[in-house]
Amino acid sequence: MSSASPLLAELIDALRCLPGVGAKSAQRMAFHLLERERERGLKLAGALEQAMQRIGNCSRCRNFSEDAVCPLCASASRDRHVLCVVESPTDLAAVEQATGYRGQYFVLLGRLSPLDGLGPRELGLHLLTERLAEGEVEELIIATSPTVEGEATSHYLAQLARAGGVRATRLAHGVPLGGELEYVDRGTLAHAFGSRQTLE
Ligand SMILES: [Zn+2]
Repeated sequence: MSSASPLLAELIDALRCLPGVGAKSAQRMAFHLLERERERGLKLAGALEQAMQRIGNCSRCRNFSEDAVCPLCASASRDRHVLCVVESPTDLAAVEQATGYRGQYFVLLGRLSPLDGLGPRELGLHLLTERLAEGEVEELIIATSPTVEGEATSHYLAQLARAGGVRATRLAHGVPLGGELEYVDRGTLAHAFGSRQTLE
């Protein structure tokens, strides 16, 4: 874009880092903010800056958190005997919203994928091993995606659980093959969660 305003060009370019936002949408967003939403635009900028600088990962579950230990891990009302392993914060949110789950979580931030350099270390599995060794967890619910890598990750997690003397369960049928957890509708996810099966 030949620009009357280099700053505007910069804003449009910056907006393109968002998923699904191409040049046209980015331009529309930038114009919209400048024409009609200056105040909220500033609020957005502030929230963005704060979030980017202050949100890290919980030292226990690896979910997004601005505290060393997130509110979910710190909560006395969550069942510490059940630990649900998910691939991403998005999946955690999906389980939280679709099911009545009251246990705790562990977020892998990926799935085993040696070709992409994602091994046990990158998924924080040493932290998970330590967690299981604490002896509080009785059931490890494996909610990785039903993809090839998700299944490989599930196998690995089941072995970890076995080594730690913890029962491992896997979300049951009903989750469409190849469907990512976050895209599964609530009813299906709730059903899969409720009818999870013990892995031998
Ligand atoms: Zn946490």
